[in-house]
Amino acid sequence: MTVLASGSKGNSVVISSSRTRVLVDAGLSCRELMRRMNVAGEEPCSLDAILITHEHQDHVAGLGVLARRLGIPVYFTEPTHRAWVRMLTPRTTMSYAAWLDHIHREKEARANAAAEPFASSGVCDSMSAAVEADSSAVLEDPDESEQATRAKVDPTFLPAVEYFRSGRQFTIGDIEITPFTIPHDAADPCGFVFSAEGIRMALATDLGYMPPNVKAALKRIDVLLLESNHDLEMLKDGPYPWSVKQRVLSRVGHLSNLATAEFLERDYDGTASYIVLGHLSESNNAPELARLAAEQALVNHPSLLGNRVLLAEQTAPLESIYM
Ligand SMILES: [Zn+2]
Ligand SMILES: [Zn+2]
Repeated sequence: MTVLASGSKGNSVVISSSRTRVLVDAGLSCRELMRRMNVAGEEPCSLDAILITHEHQDHVAGLGVLARRLGIPVYFTEPTHRAWVRMLTPRTTMSYAAWLDHIHREKEARANAAAEPFASSGVCDSMSAAVEADSSAVLEDPDESEQATRAKVDPTFLPAVEYFRSGRQFTIGDIEITPFTIPHDAADPCGFVFSAEGIRMALATDLGYMPPNVKAALKRIDVLLLESNHDLEMLKDGPYPWSVKQRVLSRVGHLSNLATAEFLERDYDGTASYIVLGHLSESNNAPELARLAAEQALVNHPSLLGNRVLLAEQTAPLESIYM
């Protein structure tokens, strides 16, 4: 697991087995995601797919551009895909008929382009060389490909879309993926459990509280990325307007340090070698407070002292975690 970014200004995590590499969320610009992957020693061109947890901007900001540039499929639930398309479409409403029509047109566009492969390895090779040489050049250079031209017309165009449903396992390469529903104010938000080569990793951020299905999903996990969004006192005294404070605190908002600590103390089975605390609020939390709350919870259970607590960052990638 390599956390490229975590927080309300952008989220993105690389999960890889020895054969397969997927990106979960693309919440920074394409340029910044590629730059961070290179910094973290992850080759952007080796990504097999992008998975999206939900359509909030801090999870999809660079999605369209990155998927088209790498020519890789994007995995969504259908309601999340639809919400994302809506977000990027100037019309404020889209009927279901209009949505089906959109899907149909996108399929036709892909079929027409089928003769011309999206990402030959040559394109990817020269691209990563250019990223290393000067990351700014890549995005500003006009891309002559037909795909880029289409994207200018339609920012919602993706090289390929695959749908999954929460609760139903699917596979990418040799990684088994189980999405689970989370309580959050998006169309159809989810977390993921990844399983490959006998190792299990899980991602659970952006959730208003810890419902039973999430507690159940987070059993027997080796590396756990878990939200620890805000300190309750800092949020109450903090700069957010009242309505935003209510949203964060709600059952479809974000997990506080206290809620995360309560989960660790009461419901967590203690199997993870690493617990990565993520989606920390920059205005309403302090890394030391999040760490302290989690560590206190673990100290109360001597059997959990083997769990290392790490803090994911907004501004720089976290060193890769290997299992
Ligand atoms: Zn969100
Ligand atoms: Zn978020």
